[in-house]
Amino acid sequence: MDKVKLAVYWAGACGGCDIAIVELGEHLLELAQVADIVFWPCAMDFKLADVEAMSDGYIDITLFNGSIRTDEDLHVAKLLRSRSRALIAFGSCATEGCVPGLSNVRGSDYALERAYLEAPGTENTQGMLPGRASNLPDSLHLPGLRPQVRALQDVVTVDAFVRGCPPNYEQVWKAINQLLTEGLPRSGERLLGVDPRSLCDQCPRVRIGKIRVPRFKRIHEAIPDSEQCFLEQGFICAGPATHAGCSAACIKANMPCRGCYGPPEGVRDQGSAILDAVVAGFAGQNDAAIQEALASIVDPIGTFYRYSYAVSLLNQLAEHRNAQPEAVAVHAEPKR
Ligand code: SF4
Ligand code: SF4
Repeated sequence: MDKVKLAVYWAGACGGCDIAIVELGEHLLELAQVADIVFWPCAMDFKLADVEAMSDGYIDITLFNGSIRTDEDLHVAKLLRSRSRALIAFGSCATEGCVPGLSNVRGSDYALERAYLEAPGTENTQGMLPGRASNLPDSLHLPGLRPQVRALQDVVTVDAFVRGCPPNYEQVWKAINQLLTEGLPRSGERLLGVDPRSLCDQCPRVRIGKIRVPRFKRIHEAIPDSEQCFLEQGFICAGPATHAGCSAACIKANMPCRGCYGPPEGVRDQGSAILDAVVAGFAGQNDAAIQEALASIVDPIGTFYRYSYAVSLLNQLAEHRNAQPEAVAVHAEPKR
């Protein structure tokens, strides 16, 4: 039987998704019996020219991790789309833009200024920003930053999604097996390797259904009780608006969920759904008390949209406003 041709690519990401694949450990040996890796530049010596030389549809499955941050990310996404029979958005950056997508709030130019000129600990007395070309003999050209970070499905057609930052290795193995034995999901559910519930449904913590404190704390300000619901103790937890799939990894380590598995089925905008759950926890309290509690949340966009800002309605609205200053309408159709 012919082996499956498998590719793995890393675009605008931190490398954690590639590590999640390496974490498969001895399963990699099982994988090697049924699949040939034909492109994985992060781990093996492949060049882009290798993919350019392939015919369309040559690769059976590509696991594409990372957001579309640079012109090169966009070019490779289009190239791998044409060369792959199945293109899988792998990990939170590819499925939703993840943390790189937060730079859309102020744009790429500001992100560079913030990182190279203003960030605490940065010493850049000459005020230098990264250029795109060097004067070295073998001139080095860097790809340009795109004005907005995009998720993979916003630039090419995606066949299925593996969520998580990074995806948990058991889920990765489940997703790869699902692809190898059953092929692509035929219709409806296109999330691979996950449980259809929300994280709260998997969470072992005790809930009473109401937030018991007047203000929110950040995790470094107090040690949470290890049995009670984080949200009810006053730590923002994204569990009510997050897809299950990680086996409550952070919760078990006494850390609130930040939402990296994206929204559950039927939820279009994860950030507003987390906010909804927070407000619902104050049911019965007056508006002033709720507003005071909400005002205690530091960095609301980073808290509610840490993983999903690039695909959020808020980002869509901001883009629309920038394009047409008088308009406030958003697209009615969800993109996911
Ligand atoms: S909000 Fe967080 S801590 Fe509370 S039940 Fe849901 S996942 Fe568990
Ligand atoms: S608990 Fe939340 S943030 Fe942690 S791995 Fe699971 S989905 Fe991601």
